[in-house]
Amino acid sequence: MRVVRLVDELRSVLDEHLTAGLSVGLVPTMGALHAGHLSLVRRARHASDIVVVSVFVNPKQFGEGEDYERYPRDTEGDLELLEGERTDIAFLPSVEHMYPPDATVGVAAGSIGDRFEGADRPGHFDGVCTVVTKLFNIVEPDLAVFGQKDAQQVAVLKRLVNDLDFAIGLDIAPIVREPDGLALSSRNVYLTLEQREQALALSRSLELGRDAFERSGDPREAERAMSEHLQDAGGVEVAYTAAVDPNSFEASQPGGPILLIVAAYVGHTRLIDNLLIVRANGGGD
Ligand code: AMP
Repeated sequence: MRVVRLVDELRSVLDEHLTAGLSVGLVPTMGALHAGHLSLVRRARHASDIVVVSVFVNPKQFGEGEDYERYPRDTEGDLELLEGERTDIAFLPSVEHMYPPDATVGVAAGSIGDRFEGADRPGHFDGVCTVVTKLFNIVEPDLAVFGQKDAQQVAVLKRLVNDLDFAIGLDIAPIVREPDGLALSSRNVYLTLEQREQALALSRSLELGRDAFERSGDPREAERAMSEHLQDAGGVEVAYTAAVDPNSFEASQPGGPILLIVAAYVGHTRLIDNLLIVRANGGGD
């Protein structure tokens, strides 16, 4: 595995592969890698000749007062895990290299980036779009792999690829969970043992929401069940629960797929989770 920190070096390494006609898969991450990230790397490995994994804690997607400074960082551990997944190139740029002080231009997510996560974290999806656009331009991958864990990010990035005409395939990997249902997240390391238990209320609320929808056929019943469970759960402060259209993040369409989404604080840690319900032939609504 080659560890690259500079854009020019990465480009010249990739040029050699491109002239050899090899396909390139990109997995963007913020590091502190866990089994969820590694599942993405495996998908890229399966589909591409050359696998590039970026590890970059992107300051532009953190708001003021968020956890940018204390976000978990473990370069050595990350490189070991990436080596184990037969990654070809680990790209670890510095903040100054990605965002030189004279840079002024960024990419705006638009209205899809203003709802839910974007409403609670203003500018978050602009930061995501900017860094992903830069990575797409630097790596020029055939395929980029992202996780369903960040469902709104997936919806925003599908728009990015579509609206800005990137000729890049997106592959979306399912959420990797702990055996008890907790979605893996780099932020789970912030949780105490007690909070780790309390955090199970998120995945549990999604299951209850799905059950309520399956019973009633009504997305509003799903929302009610999720929010009731989280209100009653100890140690959890709800940010939002909703049943939305997974592509637009607006109200779900009659007969269309429904995405149940939840965000909540456990202590100071903000966690998100989601569950996709694909309806068989127009039931519900
Ligand atoms: P992050 O390092 O949190 O920016 O995540 C990098 C990529 O890994 C994103 O595409 C995430 O959606 C994905 N990811 C994070 N956690 C999980 C998980 N539990 N299961 C699947 N993918 C994940």
